[in-house]
Amino acid sequence: MPKPFLLVKIMLFASLLSVSSFCYAEQSNTDKADALFTLINSGTVINNQTLNTYIERLEAIIAKDDTSRQLQLTRVRCWAFDPNEADQLSKALAFAQHALTKPDLADFPSHKLDLELCQAWFTEQNGDVELALKGYNKAVNDAYALEDLRLIADARSIRGYLNSYQGNFTQGLEDLITSQSLYQSLNLPAWVKFNLYEIATSYRRFGDQKNAIRYYKKLEHSYITDKDFDAAIAVTVSIAIAEEELGNLQTAKKLFEQGYLYWKANKQELQQARVAVNMAGTLIKLGDFKKVNQYLNEAEPFILPTDEAFYSFMHLFRAQTYLANGKLIQAHESLALARAAFKRVKNIRGLAELQLVESQIFLSQNNWQQAYRALNEYVKQHKELDLKRLSSYTTEMRTRFNVDQIEAENRHLIENQRLKEIEFAMLEQNKIQQGIIIFLGSFLIIIISFFAYKQSQKNKLLSELALTDHLTQLPNRRYIYTKAQRCFEEAKKTQTPLSVIIFDADHFKLINDNFGHEVGDHALVLLADTCREILSSEYPTARVGGEEFLIILPETDKAQAYKIAQNLIKTVCEANFCKFPRGFALTISAGVAGLSTTDDKLSLLLKKADDALYQAKSNGRNQVKMS
Ligand code: GH3
Ligand code: MG
Ligand code: MG
Repeated sequence: MPKPFLLVKIMLFASLLSVSSFCYAEQSNTDKADALFTLINSGTVINNQTLNTYIERLEAIIAKDDTSRQLQLTRVRCWAFDPNEADQLSKALAFAQHALTKPDLADFPSHKLDLELCQAWFTEQNGDVELALKGYNKAVNDAYALEDLRLIADARSIRGYLNSYQGNFTQGLEDLITSQSLYQSLNLPAWVKFNLYEIATSYRRFGDQKNAIRYYKKLEHSYITDKDFDAAIAVTVSIAIAEEELGNLQTAKKLFEQGYLYWKANKQELQQARVAVNMAGTLIKLGDFKKVNQYLNEAEPFILPTDEAFYSFMHLFRAQTYLANGKLIQAHESLALARAAFKRVKNIRGLAELQLVESQIFLSQNNWQQAYRALNEYVKQHKELDLKRLSSYTTEMRTRFNVDQIEAENRHLIENQRLKEIEFAMLEQNKIQQGIIIFLGSFLIIIISFFAYKQSQKNKLLSELALTDHLTQLPNRRYIYTKAQRCFEEAKKTQTPLSVIIFDADHFKLINDNFGHEVGDHALVLLADTCREILSSEYPTARVGGEEFLIILPETDKAQAYKIAQNLIKTVCEANFCKFPRGFALTISAGVAGLSTTDDKLSLLLKKADDALYQAKSNGRNQVKMS
């Protein structure tokens, strides 16, 4: 392993150690939540009450800021509404609509899509099948775009069921078979079964009752094995419908009765009412109209107009009983209700059957023309349905041959998803490593910058030290000579005046001798302070020897320099020596020189000033001489 990665691993491990103690409680709650989600999504939670307790538990353990899980919970809650309960439909729709306004959904397209699918499904339950189908089509497309296998399966399964209900067996079966193989691949046996039920029902609807019954019986058996008796009895009722369609009316009646009694015993009034409607259909064919009325009366309070599948047939059967009893006006009224409901959900099979009954009612009224028209309509619709069935048989053949292709497609999708998940994990891993590298890099940069800064400060200090006189804090000889050289060159170039003053303490040896070296040092500091006090900052001043100083005066001629030197001498002489021992006095002598055209070297200028200083000394000191 390359070293940097080893470092990264060590850092990772260290950071994990430090955070793991904080995360422990959190971790177990998210794990619990995920386990509950898996359980709910597996479709094995069969009881609404159980589901609601799971939802409550999830509400309690998911952190408010855990956006993804909160949205996942919103999905579960959306699907948890019971479309069989009167007020739940509108509540579900309002819930979905509100949930879809959450801005967080933008970052979680799968959560959003599932909520849209949920909304479309409740839209279908509410009777607006056209809008629902639009929603399903969009959901299927979006699910493919997201490559979300579970959502592809769900969206195609739901769409398939609606298509098959409307008599569009071709699309219906293709959807259902595809989702079936996806559910199998995703190892979701509960959904495999549920979907198989829908496939069987599709076979039944397009006239292959034998095949349908074969599937139903398999399902019924497996539900009984799972002790999911509600599901088992729903399948029993479907077998009854298929038997009735095959003309096995007694068998059908027996099976319906079984279902009816089961729901009655379990006090599931709506389910009981639905089986009662089915039973009425069989009894009509058996000619037992007395019992038909009994069942329909019992069912009516529970079957709402929004429950189109049953509401429509309930009124169609009602019309048939009215017809049998000669109540033709009422028969038409019931027929109108049935027709509206069939139309709302685009049930062509139902509408065709209705036309036949209508034709019979008109016949009883001796209205030959209308009877003929209705019969004609029936034939037309039947033809349409037959055509659909024919194409479905072809489709069925095709889909059977295409199963291999669908499975291959699904395998491809699953493989893709697996790769996506690996990529995603790698991306996450890279993000962490990138973060650590950025952190370490920034840390190193800060340290390096800190040391570089320290070093530059040190250098600055060192260079100051190197160029400063420690005692007087004036620049030293090295500094002033470099500076003087520059000023000399500049003055030469620009033909501007340049002067220098050299001054030296008088009889300094005596001061040291009389008052001590320390007092001598103080006297040197006093000289430096005086220079700082009275000289402009444009005149660099330095201590160039023991008690000897040099002043550079750029753009200053000899006469001006002379005046400055005089002022300096006077100031030193008249300085306040109260801090010095009694009898202490200090004077200086100075030599001034100005740059002349003949001075082609700095040393010549300095020599002239030095000579002038010598003159001042020999002339009695405490004075200035000009070269
Ligand atoms: P003159 O007026 O001719 O300049 O006489 P002088 O005594 O000042 O000249 P000289 O060159 O003979 O003596 C200079 C003295 O300055 C000698 C030395 O002890 C003293 N001196 C040099 N540097 C320092 C210093 O840093 N501190 C002190 N206290 N004395 C210093
Ligand atoms: Mg001296
Ligand atoms: Mg001297």
